[in-house]
Amino acid sequence: MGESKSGGKRWWIGARTSKCKVNPRCGQEGNPNYPKLGPEGSEEYHAEETDDKKDILVVGGGPGGLEFGRAAARRGHNVDIYEKNDFIGGQLHATAQSGREEEEMLGFAEWQKNQCDKFGANIHTGVEVDADFVEEKDPDAVVVATGAKAAVPEVPGVDKNNVVTCIDILEGKAEAGDNVVVWGGRGAGIITGLYLARQGKNVDIVTSDRRVGVDVNVSYIWRYRLMLQQEGANTHGHSELVEITEDSAIIRDEYGVKKELDADTIVSADLVSNNDMVESIKEVCDDVQVIGDAQAVSRLQKAVVDGYKLGVSI
Ligand SMILES: Cc1cc2nc3c(=O)[nH]c(=O)nc-3n(C[C@H](O)[C@H](O)[C@H](O)COP(=O)(O)OP(=O)(O)OC[C@H]3O[C@@H](n4cnc5c(N)ncnc54)[C@H](O)[C@@H]3O)c2cc1C
Repeated sequence: MGESKSGGKRWWIGARTSKCKVNPRCGQEGNPNYPKLGPEGSEEYHAEETDDKKDILVVGGGPGGLEFGRAAARRGHNVDIYEKNDFIGGQLHATAQSGREEEEMLGFAEWQKNQCDKFGANIHTGVEVDADFVEEKDPDAVVVATGAKAAVPEVPGVDKNNVVTCIDILEGKAEAGDNVVVWGGRGAGIITGLYLARQGKNVDIVTSDRRVGVDVNVSYIWRYRLMLQQEGANTHGHSELVEITEDSAIIRDEYGVKKELDADTIVSADLVSNNDMVESIKEVCDDVQVIGDAQAVSRLQKAVVDGYKLGVSI
């Protein structure tokens, strides 16, 4: 049984079910009710070919949509995955900027693509789906796997052009100045903060959580905290962003004390589900399911498990 200490508290790791970011069957080996789709011919191969073949339209070529596609196509469904970018992998591109897992993260998307190719799920890049598109294609079912987007802070000054999103920063679509406040301190905020601090920028990460990284795996968070410290990034827990000015961000801590942080750029890393289209799609298709971050913002593991479970049961 493993034990770790963090922030003066003891965390027992061993009592939890083991999980894997990329293998949705991990930790479920002894669960007879968990749908299995192991290597063909192996004892684990239980998910039967469907006798109710459907035309399924998947919106989003991130890890959730691709995982669904490979599992559903393998069972004989006709699957078409539409991705608005000209590359697949969704937020894995931003995640890969952590500098530690570029190959693994993008390699996983590549593996999912190969699996989709192998089992006949068609991937179409550069196509942004809306309800009209779905109506025209007229599928039997739609899987919405559109992921997450950065929220816009609802504070005075947010309309200034020094406010950008973490995904735009990490994908190289936006630039930050020398003094950056990252709003949102979960995994995405940490990776964005590290990415900018490593470019020599002064970084402050502001989170309303008690501290940064409350969503990050207990076995990894201590490394992130150490890296932030080594790169000189400051973190502000239990704090709200209250105003943005031309060259600063004003925050307020849990005791109501305000602080003005130098900031020529505010980066939103507070992610929310990107699912505005769901209601309009329901008007043109009776069977609509939402998976991954589009259903609830979480981590890679949830997107993969959601895609897999739906793919082997639909
Ligand atoms: C900076 C950052 C760091 C992260 N670090 C980690 C980490 O270390 N570990 C971890 O487990 N998780 C991490 N995550 C979270 C993880 O990447 C996500 O939870 C996961 O990618 C969610 O997968 P998804 O398929 O649900 O959505 P996404 O990966 O967001 O994919 C959704 C896809 O849908 C596409 N799309 C959206 N709308 C449309 C439309 N109308 N038509 C067509 N396509 C559309 C998007 O372009 C995108 O490609 C991180 C996220 C970020 C942003």
